[in-house]
Amino acid sequence: MKASQAIISGSLLLLFLLRCACEGNDRTLFGAAPPADYLTGRFNPSGHELFVSLADLGIPTNGRPHRLRREAAAALKELYAAFRRDHPKAPFWVQSSTRTYNDQKYIWNGKWTGRVRVGGRDLSREIRDPVKRAVEILRYSSMPGTSRHHWGTDIDLNVLSDAYYAKGAGALLYRWMAENAPRYGFCQPYTAGRGAGYCEEKWHWSYVPLSKQFLSRWNSVYRENPGAFSRAGLFSGSEIAGKLAAEYMNAIHDACR
Ligand SMILES: [Zn+2]
Repeated sequence: MKASQAIISGSLLLLFLLRCACEGNDRTLFGAAPPADYLTGRFNPSGHELFVSLADLGIPTNGRPHRLRREAAAALKELYAAFRRDHPKAPFWVQSSTRTYNDQKYIWNGKWTGRVRVGGRDLSREIRDPVKRAVEILRYSSMPGTSRHHWGTDIDLNVLSDAYYAKGAGALLYRWMAENAPRYGFCQPYTAGRGAGYCEEKWHWSYVPLSKQFLSRWNSVYRENPGAFSRAGLFSGSEIAGKLAAEYMNAIHDACR
């Protein structure tokens, strides 16, 4: 074999090995789901081999079926046990966990069309300007394809309201989480004072070892084809709101990166 041939076959082998390594990593991250589908919630968590049921692990929930990635669920189980040791009677339950693209579309479209009221208001009547309506919904809700809840790494605890965390059981839970959750790999993505993106959410927590990888991969998917997030007809107002996807996705606390 000539030297040039040896170099070419060596390079091909290296490319092959790199590709295998990447695909192996993708398999660990996404299982059998295509990465772009996984990242935008277009898969079924119930049939996904890397997801587990929270009830099966003894983690309290609101009684609805809840699934998370097994790594995140195992860490949450440890976190819950520690919380229980410190506070034997305090309320702790998972209110929301993995949501699919269609789950998120149902929430978003409901708020857009007035089927679901936002702060007691029918936004379809009260905010005619589509940009302003999108921004109002985006205070607390993600567009389909842009929710961290798609990834199986994020949960909402107890009650989704500021008032709940201002005193009593809510304040106790939040204080404990702020102090202890990082030890189990959890961060609060939507803290106060970030200056952009969603409002503060004291109920939303994310399992960082996985979610920081999903965030980085989501950004790659977005960069390759931003138009796929803002095509007309994807969901109500997608041609307007879709352009804000990357801004909202990345306006998170540094502890979650
Ligand atoms: Zn949430």
